[in-house]
Amino acid sequence: MTNPYELDVYGKRGITLVRGQATHLWDDQGNEYLDCMSSHGAAILGHAHPAIVDVLTCQAAQLASAPGSFHHPEKTRLMERLVGLAPLGLARVFLCNSGTESIEAALKLARASTGRSRIVAAKRGFHGRSFGAMSATFGPKQHALFAPVVPDVDFIAYNKTEGLEDALDDRVAALVLELVQGEGGVHPAEAEFIDQAAQLCRRHGILLVIDEVQTGFGRTGRLFACEHYGLTPDILCVAKGLGAGFPMGAIIVRDGLEFPPGSHGSTFGGNPLACAVANTVLDIVTAGGFLEDVEAKGEYFRSLLDGEVRGIGLMVAIELGERARPYLDRFANAGVLALTAGKKVLRFLPPLIMTRDEIAQVGEVVREVLKEPVVARSTSAC
Ligand SMILES: *Cc1c(COP(=O)(O)O)cnc(C)c1O
Repeated sequence: MTNPYELDVYGKRGITLVRGQATHLWDDQGNEYLDCMSSHGAAILGHAHPAIVDVLTCQAAQLASAPGSFHHPEKTRLMERLVGLAPLGLARVFLCNSGTESIEAALKLARASTGRSRIVAAKRGFHGRSFGAMSATFGPKQHALFAPVVPDVDFIAYNKTEGLEDALDDRVAALVLELVQGEGGVHPAEAEFIDQAAQLCRRHGILLVIDEVQTGFGRTGRLFACEHYGLTPDILCVAKGLGAGFPMGAIIVRDGLEFPPGSHGSTFGGNPLACAVANTVLDIVTAGGFLEDVEAKGEYFRSLLDGEVRGIGLMVAIELGERARPYLDRFANAGVLALTAGKKVLRFLPPLIMTRDEIAQVGEVVREVLKEPVVARSTSAC
């Protein structure tokens, strides 16, 4: 099936998905796939999870929308739980609908509350597609295309401590970092880099904004990747996994940070459907053994793979040293839907509920597919 009406911003895979169940997806030809994409890491509980289906149906019948200026029980409960689960010291929540919106909220809050304008972010980082988030995402070509981007954004090398001190001074409002660069190729941060960056932020009154849009809610084997580093940011940005496929985002911020009244908001942010789903997601991912299991399954997955393998938890990547995109079609033909990250990295983001047997199946497919190199004159798009 083709769709001539869609603005083609993604580069199509040529597959029409019609149904999902747990870790399985089906296309309109009846082909079955193991899902190692989770919709870019969002669908952490796979597809049609019975608890999510129930809560959505039930909440839709009860109260589906409510303006942000009103309380509702699911929102109050969710915010209280997010604060309880987030690193100690984070005390307040703003709810939105996507990762990029969580970054926008963080950038606005940082500028408003420090009175400074400079934003420092990392090369190879990814924070989203809206203007602020795109401006904090390294990409001279994209920036030129949409110029002028949001001004006063500076980029540092990721995982390099040299240069940090020069970049982080009293003019900087916020340092924005991922703890594992996801789209940039699955590169975990080194503890020394994060420690030094956090220390410089404290010294200069810079707000440390940690983007856990991809890593949050169990992807790395901890509820938040911050826990691997013993880190409390000033602003924690989350989205993807929080809604397990339902559009949702949030910032969780240190006590004392405030938006001036009327300076920010979102029509759909914190709607009852999203909050009810997120409460159910939290029930599941915080249940005993769930996160330990993610960690163990991630290690098992990596143990099945050869070559330059990276990752943490169920964020798994193989550095190919050649273009990765042509391999995705091979994987699809072999019944596995995977992702790339950057040009030369294959990335696997399975739902966190994927079983060991399914991981073994994926491992088998990866070995088979990578045995034969793709011929250079591949006709696939992009
Ligand atoms: C996906 C992603 C975003 C953007 O999220 P959207 O919901 O697509 O706007 C931001 N930061 C990181 C680290 C991401 O992986």
